[in-house]
Amino acid sequence: MNNEIVLKGVPAAPGISIGPAYIVDKQELVVPPRAILEKEIPIEIARFEEALIKTREEVLDLKKKISDQMGGQHAQFFDAHLLVLEDRMVIEEVIKRIRNEKHSAEYVFSNVLKKYIKVFENIQDEYLKERTSDVNDIGRRVLKNLMDENQMFELEYINEELVVIAHDLAPSETANMFNKNVLGFATDIGGRTSHTAIMAKSLGVPAVVGLKEATLRISNQDMVIIDGRMGLVIVHPGEKTLEIYRNERTRIMALRHRFDDIKDLPAETPDGKTVEILSNLELPEEVPLIQKKGANGIGLYRTEYFYMNRIDLPSEEEQFQAYRKVAEKMSPHPVTIRTLDLGGDKFISSLQVPRDMYPSLGWRALKFCLSRPDIFKTQLRAILRASSYGKLRLMYPMVSGPGELREANRILTDVRASLKKENVSFDEDIPVGIMVEVPSAVMTADMLAKEADFFSIGTNDLIQYTLAVDRVNEQTAEFYEPCHPAVLRFIKMTIDAGHKENIPVGLCGEMSSEPILALLLLGFGLDEFSMSHTNILQIKKLVRSVRFEDARALAEKVLTLSTGSEIEDLCQAKLQEFAPKIFNTEDTG
Ligand code: PEP
Ligand code: MG
Repeated sequence: MNNEIVLKGVPAAPGISIGPAYIVDKQELVVPPRAILEKEIPIEIARFEEALIKTREEVLDLKKKISDQMGGQHAQFFDAHLLVLEDRMVIEEVIKRIRNEKHSAEYVFSNVLKKYIKVFENIQDEYLKERTSDVNDIGRRVLKNLMDENQMFELEYINEELVVIAHDLAPSETANMFNKNVLGFATDIGGRTSHTAIMAKSLGVPAVVGLKEATLRISNQDMVIIDGRMGLVIVHPGEKTLEIYRNERTRIMALRHRFDDIKDLPAETPDGKTVEILSNLELPEEVPLIQKKGANGIGLYRTEYFYMNRIDLPSEEEQFQAYRKVAEKMSPHPVTIRTLDLGGDKFISSLQVPRDMYPSLGWRALKFCLSRPDIFKTQLRAILRASSYGKLRLMYPMVSGPGELREANRILTDVRASLKKENVSFDEDIPVGIMVEVPSAVMTADMLAKEADFFSIGTNDLIQYTLAVDRVNEQTAEFYEPCHPAVLRFIKMTIDAGHKENIPVGLCGEMSSEPILALLLLGFGLDEFSMSHTNILQIKKLVRSVRFEDARALAEKVLTLSTGSEIEDLCQAKLQEFAPKIFNTEDTG
């Protein structure tokens, strides 16, 4: 009997993977009910008490380790965990319910935990609300000690080749997957430019996001196929489907190296226009992969990942060492370090920043850094110090206009002065540029171009702020239109404003890696295309195949069209005409 299920989501990273599912995250803690006999009640209560003791020992151990390494103030974080473990109300309720309901300790405890989490979530007080994550963390630790590891679906246990299925993956979780046996992943929520999608490309694995019900429809160990080109997940595939997909996967793998021969050639059109093709970087481990693709440098180093998966903030020295390593390895090519872009969909546990109701409009990126100069200065010092060891560029995210740029530069001037006073060397001419990713920056681009050394257009955000469409929301994914005339006009305006002041203009959003859009951007006169390393050679091939004059004529025509779909259709047709080789293999990933 064929019980194949096909789920449709948003394509996030191309390619095909086939393997057993591994559910790393459900919306809630899922512990199956297990009934117990009257005589087992004392055993379950004893198991619960032992789990509490064991968890307490683990937390105290962890606290000591952190305190020895980083000082007592960092270890205070665990006190809240210990308090939860000692909460008499929780403990008594669990014991009472084991007796009355006759269910296993883990089942009862998970239900009590859920109840408390709900109470915390509904509290108005922001501080108490923030404690939800402490209750959740400690609850998971207790459950881990109560349950068989096989029953707990945690990312850290991955030791065989699996397809990860999750409700959502936090950037910190995806960062954890590097060099693990993750074949691909699929999530319930998220859009094309959500960080899950971006990270999938960095890891070089296929991904589908925005599936809405993947975690409900898929069980652990189910055989699944991830089709990252079409945005499909096939559960329990029949033999015939498996055979088709296995063949397709082989075909794609064979095409992976099809453009390797142009790695060291310039990204130059047949009529002599040269552009730079750079890579985005999420994790320093990606550098060798980026070098293999012959990138002209790093156009966007997303430093937020450096702040994740830890309970403290990275020190100046630690950041300096990391930036220096990337600068040295990429030298003589430039490395563009973006200062901390916290907020929106990127959260950092060590900062305990209250969640905004509308995170993408909240306390984020440069606004956050300007109000926390302590954190900002530490990063700026690290970047400046590292600038002596390669060719670094500094870039501020989410600049809203000249006022904010000046404020950031004022802090930078202070940092420069203090380094000089300490006789610490740095590149005095380090270029300082900005990301243009909010409409107010586009509208003031003529002024910003007089004060910035370069622009990098961040279309992932620019699209969401221009069209009022959340980039991570699967419900609105179809309205997230890179080809919307307003978005394209904004891009053109930014490029023109930059060129008027003779500064280079790049683009580091996902748009630069999609062939039909890259064709258009080439025509708009974009100088630098920065993207995931997986797309570099394909886009270089495109640039080398299309006459700049043809791309320019297309761009001119496009600006007269009034809908995204007309524009997309025209670009598709032109891409096929100018570069059939790219177009026909576009889906190969
Ligand atoms: C962007 O917004 O286009 C961008 C590159 O930055 P991020 O995706 O990190 O927000
Ligand atoms: Mg952005």
